[in-house]
Amino acid sequence: MSGLAAGIRLAYYGQRVCILEKHAISGGLNSHYSKDGRRFDVGLHAMTNFVQKGVKAAPLSKLLRQLKIRYDELDLVEQSFSLIEFPGAKVRFANNFGLMAEDIAKEFPSEIDGFLKLVEHVKNYDDVSLNAQYVSSREVVATFIKDPVLLDMIFCPVMYYGSAVEDDMDFSQFCIMFKSLYLEGFCRPQIGVRHLLRILQKKFKENGGELKMRCGVKKLYKHNGRVSAVELEDGSMLEGTKILSSVGVCETYNLLEEGDKSPSKPGQLSFVETLLILDKLPKDFGRDETITFFCREDKFNYRCPKGKTHDPMSGVICIPNNFQFSDKPLEEGIVRFTSLADYNSWKDLSPEDYLAAKDVFVKDQIKHSGFADKLEGHIVYTDAFTPMTVKKFTSHINGAIYGAPGKVKDGTTPYENLYLCGTDQGFLGIVGALLSGISMANLHLLR
Ligand SMILES: Cc1cc2nc3c(=O)[nH]c(=O)nc-3n(C[C@H](O)[C@H](O)[C@H](O)COP(=O)(O)OP(=O)(O)OC[C@H]3O[C@@H](n4cnc5c(N)ncnc54)[C@H](O)[C@@H]3O)c2cc1C
Repeated sequence: MSGLAAGIRLAYYGQRVCILEKHAISGGLNSHYSKDGRRFDVGLHAMTNFVQKGVKAAPLSKLLRQLKIRYDELDLVEQSFSLIEFPGAKVRFANNFGLMAEDIAKEFPSEIDGFLKLVEHVKNYDDVSLNAQYVSSREVVATFIKDPVLLDMIFCPVMYYGSAVEDDMDFSQFCIMFKSLYLEGFCRPQIGVRHLLRILQKKFKENGGELKMRCGVKKLYKHNGRVSAVELEDGSMLEGTKILSSVGVCETYNLLEEGDKSPSKPGQLSFVETLLILDKLPKDFGRDETITFFCREDKFNYRCPKGKTHDPMSGVICIPNNFQFSDKPLEEGIVRFTSLADYNSWKDLSPEDYLAAKDVFVKDQIKHSGFADKLEGHIVYTDAFTPMTVKKFTSHINGAIYGAPGKVKDGTTPYENLYLCGTDQGFLGIVGALLSGISMANLHLLR
């Protein structure tokens, strides 16, 4: 996504630009596939940062302007509402902020003033500064929220949708995610992520961009403080005046001839995900929410479950049917479960053990869903991905879903014509990746 967005900006300004993509389909793991006659989105739960048409000062509006995409072209549908579910407490949030404040006032009456002050603090914080140092979000948020359960509840969605750091995150990143989830909200293109990818590819090609699929980059050659050439996996060589890499910070440094030491260590946090197709709609068994972020234990742990294939005790449940479709509702019931996973527990499994371990986490996720009884006898199709799938389709070391914990916010490297964009520049999610591509192209390649 970040590569396509950067490519569109450069193509608009008449640059000769070429995108090299290792796979046959764009989007990394936030893409789509067909299997057994059905079409699926691989990753998409929701696009964050929803705003209504016409709102000008918002990340979504900014990126549409920069990419010259009309708001209506995205064909967005909004969430119904989402849910944060912890033992003994539930808080809903929706695309109007009032619902969250209302539920917090009801469930945690002594915390509502602190929460509203936190909202003001987040709104006024300079979260896009490219030079900001790491500030612990847990420490900042604890000055506003005293109840440890509410504190964890606020962090759970924000972390699941955008933290590469275990148990805590940079406060700038927290503010970006807080605004994009709680103050703006969720939507999706009606037919799924393929719609957005098609728009991006079309814009890029129409403006003269060259998209080379199945063209993995093998090595970046250095000469006099610059990257002088790019070697592809088929052995061919390319030259370019400037290179923007969206493959991750450690991964980019590993591509450099003789390897270079990355300024950040690789990420650890990966996910397993199950997709279930049902022969009935979730609303028919009482599930109206779009996304649930849950924790089934007293303490929420957002941490790599080292030594275990997965940790089913917290996670995300997405029910795509519960977006407010206008004319093209999804025909079958769909539920997706996401849980934290440890890449190292997957990487050496034999094919048989791998399949068996997949079976275990699917069953575990159903068991901890809170509506296992309602699913019984209604599952007509199951698919699942593991950290190995994340590694395959993003090339992130350890299948780290949100890349490295240390982000390179200004996108620079020691090489004067090599820059970073996307996940490891620090803007996460679909909207974040698109904005990252745009801002790095504007800052480093167009000035
Ligand atoms: C499973 C999953 C579900 C997600 N769900 C959501 C969601 O619901 N909503 C949301 O907002 N965000 C979601 N995200 C996050 C969002 O998809 C990412 O933040 C965003 O797509 C990252 O874009 P990117 O450009 O930084 O990198 P990536 O999407 O990782 O793209 C990097 C690209 O580089 C290619 N590549 C890697 N190595 C090489 C090489 N050597 N040569 C050539 N090409 C190479 C890869 O094939 C890939 O296409 C999800 C992510 C994942 C993995």
